Amino acid sequence: MKKYVLRKNNNNKLTKKTIKNTKKIIENTKYYSWKINDLPEGCKKCVSGDKLVMFVTGICPRKCPYCPLSEQKKDNDVIFANERQLTNDNDTIAIIEEAIACKSKGAGFTGGDPLSKIDRTCYYIRLLKKKFGKKFHIHLYTSMELLNDENLKKLNNSGLDELRFHPDLMNKKLWEKVKLFF
Ligand code: SF4
Repeated sequence: MKKYVLRKNNNNKLTKKTIKNTKKIIENTKYYSWKINDLPEGCKKCVSGDKLVMFVTGICPRKCPYCPLSEQKKDNDVIFANERQLTNDNDTIAIIEEAIACKSKGAGFTGGDPLSKIDRTCYYIRLLKKKFGKKFHIHLYTSMELLNDENLKKLNNSGLDELRFHPDLMNKKLWEKVKLFF
């Protein structure tokens, strides 16, 4: 397997010499992706089919031309646990039943952007953690537009385990938000 190593020098630049001196290793995985160090817990449970897909809403602040959402979901405030549609916000029995039926050991929260409906998102995270325990692993995908201190605190307090970003690589303003983590 081909390995790449990255390290910045004192001038904050990658050079051939410094590239050889780091412990950070970027590798491709057998799942058509790239990783640094170990595969995150959320990915492990996803590839083994152990995760419930919690589609919190089809609402999203981005308009990506390649958006894969169906017409039924795109820009519509609909909720699905896997392919099971909830009748309303409080149809939580559907979530629990679906998780039990699929023997889920965790959930991946997605959309749309789950942060478009942050209180609903946190409500479902709490619900799943309360029902299935702390080890029920939950990760969440967000587009970054709605990332701020307040939303991060809400997610953290609700018990979220992992956060994934779908960045707009060309938007410098969004990259600034990475600073929220330092
Ligand atoms: S961020 Fe995701 S859900 Fe939103 S428009 Fe882009 S691809 Fe679609």
